[in-house]
Amino acid sequence: MNFRPLSGRRRSARSAVLVASAMLVASAMLVVACGGRPVAPALSASPPGSPATPMTPSPASAPPSAGAVATGGTPAGLATATAPPVDCSALVPTPALTEGPYFTAGSPAKTDLREPGMEGTTLVVVGHVVDRSCNPVAGAVIDVWQADAAGTYDNAGYRLRGHLESGPDGSYRFTTIVPGLYPGRTEHIHVKVTPPGGPTLTTQLFFPGVSQNDEDGIFDAAGLLTITETPDGLLGAYTFVL
Ligand code: FE
Repeated sequence: MNFRPLSGRRRSARSAVLVASAMLVASAMLVVACGGRPVAPALSASPPGSPATPMTPSPASAPPSAGAVATGGTPAGLATATAPPVDCSALVPTPALTEGPYFTAGSPAKTDLREPGMEGTTLVVVGHVVDRSCNPVAGAVIDVWQADAAGTYDNAGYRLRGHLESGPDGSYRFTTIVPGLYPGRTEHIHVKVTPPGGPTLTTQLFFPGVSQNDEDGIFDAAGLLTITETPDGLLGAYTFVL
């Protein structure tokens, strides 16, 4: 696994930890304000004519139950991380990108793709699914598949494959590992997002600061995660704009 970009990010590890700490404090405040259950912040703004989005508790933003975690529990620093607000003034449509050769239909429903003994850096991905008018899209099916830390796909089963749904406020959250490189490709996570009634958007998520991004013909900066380094792993944020 190529961690050179992560090493680059470690130069700002102290500020990243401060940011992560502030997020944890904010999450704790939300817990207090909303009756003891973490919820995703409401979308920051709505375009004229759109109804206001209430702050609604969402299954997608709640911490996983103990039984749902396969590798001994989501690290504490990431366990309370919730989806950041959507900046409706700066929406970038999520690009349609190739499915590639390794998609397998029928993935299991899960919010933690890790398995016991799996190597790799923990990555929690959070965000919202919205339409191009910034309205939250509830019940969108988010199907995820990726390579393991060594850059290998499981093409016989469903290792590092799974699907989840966005919550009532459009928020989603899943836990996985940072994928490894494989020949010709930079680090990426494949995703299909299907809103109720369709159509399906097939895309890929990428990591900032990876040198191979510039050499990958499929790479699209509009698919970049916003990464925050925490003591427990990486937090990646992304808004799917359908
Ligand atoms: Fe791939």
